[in-house]
Amino acid sequence: MTGRFSARAAAVADVAARYADEVDRDERPPVEAVMAMKEQRLLSLSVPTEYGGEGASMRELSEIATTVGAADANAGMVFAMHHSQALPLWRHGSRAGVRSTIAKVVSEEWLLGSATTERGIGGDARRSSCALEYPSPGRVRLVKDAPVVSYGEVADAILVTGRLNADAPSSDQRMLICAKGDYTLEKTAVWHGLGLRGTASDSFIITAETAEDMLLDDPYGTISAHTALPAAHLLWASVWLGIASSAADEARSTVRRQARATVGYPPPGQLRLAELMVGLQTLADSVRHSAERFDEAGLDASVLGSISFALAMNSVKISSANALVDLVLQALRIVGIAGYRTDTPQSLSRQLRDALAAQIQISNDRLLTNDAPLSLLAKVEL
Ligand SMILES: Cc1cc2nc3c(=O)[nH]c(=O)nc-3n(C[C@H](O)[C@H](O)[C@H](O)COP(=O)(O)OP(=O)(O)OC[C@H]3O[C@@H](n4cnc5c(N)ncnc54)[C@H](O)[C@@H]3O)c2cc1C
Repeated sequence: MTGRFSARAAAVADVAARYADEVDRDERPPVEAVMAMKEQRLLSLSVPTEYGGEGASMRELSEIATTVGAADANAGMVFAMHHSQALPLWRHGSRAGVRSTIAKVVSEEWLLGSATTERGIGGDARRSSCALEYPSPGRVRLVKDAPVVSYGEVADAILVTGRLNADAPSSDQRMLICAKGDYTLEKTAVWHGLGLRGTASDSFIITAETAEDMLLDDPYGTISAHTALPAAHLLWASVWLGIASSAADEARSTVRRQARATVGYPPPGQLRLAELMVGLQTLADSVRHSAERFDEAGLDASVLGSISFALAMNSVKISSANALVDLVLQALRIVGIAGYRTDTPQSLSRQLRDALAAQIQISNDRLLTNDAPLSLLAKVEL
């Protein structure tokens, strides 16, 4: 990675790599890497300079997510999920409570989590059954049964979706910032994932009461389409690129060792490595180009709300998630038994298990179902 944030991203990646196996083994959040992100001021990067941040572009965030994700996908995911929540604050919020949350992200490097998924609704983040209540003028209350809240216990604030009020349809949602001190978490299940074990994606009943000015301005449908969904898909895909590149690095080291041992006879893995590099380059080009597409759209609602933009942002998620598992398996075939074992320095166990989350972290089928009617209306932008 090059660019203005490369040294700070590398410093965080160093810490993340050091604790990656421990985080995975103990199923705990990557707290050392999160602390390093705060020290390196990586959590306020996406806030524009006029609010005190550094105005990082999606392309820049994507590169950092890949660098950290290659060291430890858990830490990469925390970075990715945080910025998917930080971007909507200034792009869709203007009230005093939202502004003061942005100020906390900048001054104290607040870590933001999210609770969009809801028990009984599955992965359809565009519907809620819980509803906002207004117990007294200027106050708002929300109780949500959230089955997956990553790093919920270490977040400084959680952005929670709910219906506008008890009479609103399930799709008429708003997004509420629940800052620490304004909510309680009742843990209903502990996260024991096959991979991404350090995301600590436990289940909680969240009970929050706060000021009404902690609501973002726009309906969640707009926030999701214009910012939260594209940011999540792009930054998750950037982390997945990191996972794939770390597996490819292991494969390359293996083939180099084999080549040194069989001078004059190129090892068969060399051809497979070349094949793996084609897939990795294709994934990298797709992820970075898609990030630039988001940057080019800026705040232009006519682009962000267009069918072709929606299809493109789903496309990068679906294609990256599909490519990732194949790439890690290609690397595993090259590395061989040392990669398959879980107790070797060459083990690809963590990368493979982490990669398996990609297709279900918002089910690819759910996205394709959403794409299906849109595909009748728009051509792919070439
Ligand atoms: C590591 C990780 C971290 C996460 N962190 C968070 C977090 O911090 N906050 C949060 O809110 N969520 C989080 N999630 C949840 C995530 O956002 C998805 O909601 C969740 O992975 C989907 O769960 P599901 O498989 O039960 O849901 P579903 O989407 O219901 O999918 C289950 C199956 O049903 C099928 N299906 C059901 N209904 C439909 C339909 N209408 N159209 C098409 N297919 C359908 C799907 O294809 C799939 O096969 C996280 C998930 C993971 C894996």
